[in-house]
Amino acid sequence: MSPIGSPRDTAPADADPGLSAARAHLFNAGSVERFRDVLARGVNRIADRVADADQPFTGVTPDALAPLIAGVDLDRPLGDTDAALDELHDVWLRDAVWFHHPRYLAHLNCPVVIPALLGEAVLSAVNSSVDTWDQSVGATLMERHLIEWTAGRIGLGTTADGVFTSGGTQSNLQAMLLAREEACRRVVGGAATRPARPQVLARLRIITSVAGHFSVQKAAKLLGLGADAVLTVPTDAGRRMRTDDLATTIDRCRRDGLVVMAVVATAGTTDFGTIDPLPEIADICTAAGVWLHVDAAYGCGLLVSPTRRHLLDGIERADSVTVDYHKSFFQPVSSSALLVRDGRVLRHATWHADYLNPVRAVEQGIPNQVDKSIQTTRRFDAGKLWLTLRIMGPDAIGALFDRVVDLAAEAWRLLDTDPRFEVAARPQLSTVVFRHVPPDAGPSLVDDANLHARDALATSGAALVAGTKVDGAHYLKLTLLNPETTIDDIAAVLNLIADHAAWYAQTTATAELTCPVG
Ligand SMILES: *Cc1c(COP(=O)(O)O)cnc(C)c1O
Repeated sequence: MSPIGSPRDTAPADADPGLSAARAHLFNAGSVERFRDVLARGVNRIADRVADADQPFTGVTPDALAPLIAGVDLDRPLGDTDAALDELHDVWLRDAVWFHHPRYLAHLNCPVVIPALLGEAVLSAVNSSVDTWDQSVGATLMERHLIEWTAGRIGLGTTADGVFTSGGTQSNLQAMLLAREEACRRVVGGAATRPARPQVLARLRIITSVAGHFSVQKAAKLLGLGADAVLTVPTDAGRRMRTDDLATTIDRCRRDGLVVMAVVATAGTTDFGTIDPLPEIADICTAAGVWLHVDAAYGCGLLVSPTRRHLLDGIERADSVTVDYHKSFFQPVSSSALLVRDGRVLRHATWHADYLNPVRAVEQGIPNQVDKSIQTTRRFDAGKLWLTLRIMGPDAIGALFDRVVDLAAEAWRLLDTDPRFEVAARPQLSTVVFRHVPPDAGPSLVDDANLHARDALATSGAALVAGTKVDGAHYLKLTLLNPETTIDDIAAVLNLIADHAAWYAQTTATAELTCPVG
């Protein structure tokens, strides 16, 4: 006990009973019993709900849920934890989408590991902000240690650095910011007369493949580049960037007086789970003196894979890398990082504020992560990965990711030998893109039947799958990130899809026969 006692002991009694009640909710030395009790109630609710969820979704519609939520008067508190948890059940938990369910097969959402959930609870309670040392202390050094560890797994070398971010979108944005500033520096430095910045910006181009993530286009827009700043090169039959087209695109830019500020290779395309040929792309970028960014938001799980790390060969030659631990490391949202080969480039994200991180702090060697980030106040998301590695270890995470990659290969074989279906590219990661082909159906009916099957499946709530377009046609997509999903789950879902699609194709054909249009 401190000599002056706990805040509770010294606090004067409140004249206002409302204030006393409010103060009782603050997490402090005087409220630890309430903290234990309230959190335990929440933990029990969520545990019960997860144990109960026998489908990934209830099929609820926005129209059904909207009045319930709009009807909650946020100015009139329920006052009671259990009443608020009851209400939370009605407005959210009852109909939530459960990523832990083996038949959730839709987007890049993973079931989460318990050590990371522990981390989430602890980091929120401590509420460290990893912007400056004086708000985070050990958390800053732990984040730095995890960045070093990740950079080591990638093979970026001893000058590498990086920072945790809110997600792949932010990591890609920051990578493009750094690449833009480096490109501007080179252009301005090499010019006889200093060109105006808007003129330089107008000449900058980013090259990615048609299967690259849309956050690259968004980043270009946010960074003040032109609408035509992102050039997309085609992919081969395996949905990987065509390196011959990359080389000719770089040459064409040169001839046109444009400046390629970055090539963005994708290590795990969102749509197909395919990995661009990193060594060839790195060769081209080295020869052209162009910044190589590898977007490994999805494929980063391979960094800890006991059997498939080689699929990322060439990533060690990148200038910057995006990793999303919240995709293939089984971490809760948010957990992502940007890594760079030369830590000095992070200075493009630095701004010294007198109140926060003055130059004096740098001179004193005080470790401030805000100097490397485009955020200021920032969650200690690294704490989740820390506990995951310290409790489970990297091999265990890699084994889980390997399991879903194996499952995708099995699912692909199943689909490839089933005459009811057609598969797109063979997966390298855990995504399978396919469509149902009803017998004797024309292209527009095939499209509609697959769209219907996806919607009907979601409405039933029995399973969730995603969709995408392949060369203009509608396809369905399984994104497999749940190591508990079995090939029998997938076979059962495929049967449901085929039934829904076949029903649609049949009733549509019958309707056309009985009531001809026009
Ligand atoms: C998901 C994804 C992103 C975006 O990441 P967020 O964490 O959703 O912001 C970027 N690139 C690729 C390849 C992705 O799959």
